[in-house]
Amino acid sequence: MRDLLDRAASGERLGRDQALTLFQEADLLDLAAAADAVRWRLHPAPRVTYVVDRNINYTNICQSGCLFCAFYKKPGDPAGYVLSWEELDQKIEQTVALGGRQVLLQGGLNPELDLGFYRELLQRITARHSIHVHGFSPPEIVWLAGRTGCSVERVLRELVAAGLGSIPGGGAEILVDEVRRKISPEKCTAAEWLAVMRLAHFSGLRTTATMMFGHVERDEHRVEHLIKIRELQDETNGFTAFIPWTFQPENTRLAASKATAVEYLRTLTLCRLVLDNVPHIQASWVTQGAKIAQAALAFGADDLGSTMIEENVVAAAGVSFRLSEADLIHLIESAGLMARRRDCFYNLLLDRPAAAGQGGG
Ligand code: SF4
Repeated sequence: MRDLLDRAASGERLGRDQALTLFQEADLLDLAAAADAVRWRLHPAPRVTYVVDRNINYTNICQSGCLFCAFYKKPGDPAGYVLSWEELDQKIEQTVALGGRQVLLQGGLNPELDLGFYRELLQRITARHSIHVHGFSPPEIVWLAGRTGCSVERVLRELVAAGLGSIPGGGAEILVDEVRRKISPEKCTAAEWLAVMRLAHFSGLRTTATMMFGHVERDEHRVEHLIKIRELQDETNGFTAFIPWTFQPENTRLAASKATAVEYLRTLTLCRLVLDNVPHIQASWVTQGAKIAQAALAFGADDLGSTMIEENVVAAAGVSFRLSEADLIHLIESAGLMARRRDCFYNLLLDRPAAAGQGGG
């Protein structure tokens, strides 16, 4: 085990079996030390980055009905919505006023919306606001392609022409179809998710990747997920960051107990050690809260993600951690590290951090 840990810490590529052995058998603090060594080799500056942005969910109507999702409403449900252009403008103006340079646009698979809606949405945003649009995870793009009869390539081309700047790595859950069939049978397959990302990367878009774990998957599925991301990254080098987060069971149709903080941190180290070619690993304060997110900075994470001026999806599952930009800075600095704002591509921004009290609300 010591030899394997040393090899992992020194950057030697882990195979499936080695990764699984480490994950299942190594001591948690030994894993943390190995992941932390990798983190410092990749990012020698004592710096933790974050981005000021807002999640805008343009619709909650979705016909996919994933069992783990507490956010969606079925078509026809009176609580379903599509944001009006005025609401959208207001949200973006508020984001810009708080120093935000990007918005994350994501929504349900709404049968009422066609490619024209998406084009107009992007064109309106880019015509009226100076803001980067990080939007539409692979399931939305696969859905849109199926609905319009266009290829994924064509949909991507149209979205980019209308103003799309990059793609979030949502909807990955676990990239193993045996798992996907149990938790999201109507959503795109693992191969389709990867194919969208491959096409996006080859067309010049940068993306993130995520993993939602702690439900019906087994340890080997987590490893398999990471290996698939690593293989695609070897091909394209298009992933900027990886964001693992835990399934939040409340208000969902999936019976599973919530993963513990130890389970989260152990998985985070696995991500840092296996994904030797993905530059950044984000801690998920939205699902873990401030204290575990701060601990995550010693378990391989080098980024705290977004201030999330607005977040609806995890909140729908009864989790309501909120942190302002000042809170994020305090979290980073009280861990003895330097906080820096960044953009979507991990370029450091020079603007001064916002005053205490701004951000998350
Ligand atoms: S996770 Fe996304 S695709 Fe699945 S039900 Fe929720 S909104 Fe729909």
